[in-house]
Amino acid sequence: MKSSWRVGRVMGIDLYLDVGWFVIVALLIYTLGFIEFPRELHPRAISPRADVTSVTLGVLASFLLFASVLAHEFAHAWMALQRGIGVKRITLFIFGGVAHITEEPDRPSSEFLIAVVGPLTSIALAAVFGAAWVWLMILDSTHLFGRWLVAPILLMSILAQVNGSLALFNLAPGFPLDGGRLLRAFLWSVLNDLRRATLWSSRVGQFIALILIGAGAVVFFIGSSSVGIWYGLIGLFLWNAASEGYRQTALLETLRRVPVSAVMIQSVETVSPDLSLSEFAETYVLPRREQVFVVSDGVTTLGTITFDDLQRVPRTQWQTRRVRDAMTPLARVPILTPQQSAASALVQLSTSEREELPVIEHDRVVGFVGHASVSRYLKLKADSK
Ligand SMILES: [Zn+2]
Repeated sequence: MKSSWRVGRVMGIDLYLDVGWFVIVALLIYTLGFIEFPRELHPRAISPRADVTSVTLGVLASFLLFASVLAHEFAHAWMALQRGIGVKRITLFIFGGVAHITEEPDRPSSEFLIAVVGPLTSIALAAVFGAAWVWLMILDSTHLFGRWLVAPILLMSILAQVNGSLALFNLAPGFPLDGGRLLRAFLWSVLNDLRRATLWSSRVGQFIALILIGAGAVVFFIGSSSVGIWYGLIGLFLWNAASEGYRQTALLETLRRVPVSAVMIQSVETVSPDLSLSEFAETYVLPRREQVFVVSDGVTTLGTITFDDLQRVPRTQWQTRRVRDAMTPLARVPILTPQQSAASALVQLSTSEREELPVIEHDRVVGFVGHASVSRYLKLKADSK
């Protein structure tokens, strides 16, 4: 099921909203617009009612909070791009945001810079909103503005506090939080071993997760149950992220030493460019196991064709149109070489968003690499130990 939607593109990076994001925005607008703002705007009312002002303020506050999280993530993405590391997309979800960086930083200094700019952005925003908050309080103390400043003061205080908490929480030294990445950069530069640096910073991450879950349980039983559940959920989320983060790094470290030739599928099926698409569907796509077919006139490789390529042509034209009309020309397919590392092949795979990429040697396709073939290789290796 689709769980996130692309809503725009900034600095060449796609922005996605996860389904959880809609939940949190609805919750925020409700809490601020229907409970918090009415209470602050009408302090003398026994049961304050939401009005146009309170709901508008709720929507505005939610929008600015969302923009604050976005600024934090874009800071990471911008610095990654500055250091020559690709950024696939940014996703906003229930616990905030994440910038999907396509590969691990190549050295500790890159890791440090990419990690540190996020919290720095949040601290800067907290300072700006905090200064506005103090300035409005001073204005308010002159009593020249009546109750006009109550709403903006509340808005600024919320934004200053949320950005401050965002910086503080992210600076907790557990991987994959920003603080954990700073710790990993430090350990990496000292130990000169990315895998061990990730292992230790992930363990700190899991430790922090346990503290959050424990604190959540205590708060649940002696204080507010909703706050307790929230702590517990963030703890579980962090626990999973820390375990998964380490697994990913360990995997990439293993695959860095494995050549593409060891993980590729060597069966290559060739089709003629002059074959009609209906014949191609009947004799190749249906009865065979291959996902990708190489289009070759017998001398040169022209491109590749997949089931997806075929489906882009309306079925009514399959009799008249040929394989060469539907194929993806070789120039437009990212290609691999047998000697490059399987880790770099995985990076290319995830940026290309294709199922499999062709491996080329002496202008000839000698195999294919996909996530399935890599994971099969890893399973075989793990079982043989
Ligand atoms: Zn961050």
